[in-house]
Amino acid sequence: MDQKTVILDKIPFEIDIPRLFERLRIEEDDDMAEDVVALVKEASGLGRPKGIYSTAYIDEKDDCGIAAGGIRFVSRVMRVNLDKVHRFFPFVVTAGVELDQWARSYGSGLERYWADCIQEAILRCASEYVRSHIVANNSLDAGGVAVMNPGSLQDWPISEQPKLFELIGNVKEATGVELTDSFLMLPVKSISGILFASDSNYENCRLCPRENCPGRRAPYDATLYERKYK
Ligand code: SF4
Repeated sequence: MDQKTVILDKIPFEIDIPRLFERLRIEEDDDMAEDVVALVKEASGLGRPKGIYSTAYIDEKDDCGIAAGGIRFVSRVMRVNLDKVHRFFPFVVTAGVELDQWARSYGSGLERYWADCIQEAILRCASEYVRSHIVANNSLDAGGVAVMNPGSLQDWPISEQPKLFELIGNVKEATGVELTDSFLMLPVKSISGILFASDSNYENCRLCPRENCPGRRAPYDATLYERKYK
């Protein structure tokens, strides 16, 4: 079946200022608040977050992984998560090269830290937009989808990232996102992964023992891998 690729290069976004202040531990009446708001205005004028995704149809499944579009992915967790589906949606989302250059212009001080947090807020908006786009255009149920990201778990290591990019195709041309030799994405404020239909409330975090992670979305379940994926 043909693989359809969708490029989203005009993603609207709005930064949640109270949430940003909370992240930066700044009060609204703080002297620094005005400086942060000025940076938000700059970023809002310059920002061009982008996303790309495709529809991948599964060719084969075995104990250790799956193949789609002629590309084999090795991950037991992915294999089990995709057990009941025949397709999934590989994606890349980025805050964009424009904001990356803007943030770099602030060097390495406090303003740079704020600029990085602003980029993260914009990336979050863009990710939600891309997720909603996939759901709305593929007859999916918003409450019945889950996401996996290469590199989040040992089971699906970051070294699988080039295959994900290959499966999507034209990622750099469409979004400006490229991979380093160690498979990290540049700009760094980018996310890659697969979205799939699932009624299991899957979250990478349930399988990830990392302590004190600020991005944790679900508690670690120490026996989940043994129970469900082994
Ligand atoms: S706990 Fe943190 S590092 Fe682990 S999967 Fe969740 S967000 Fe990623």
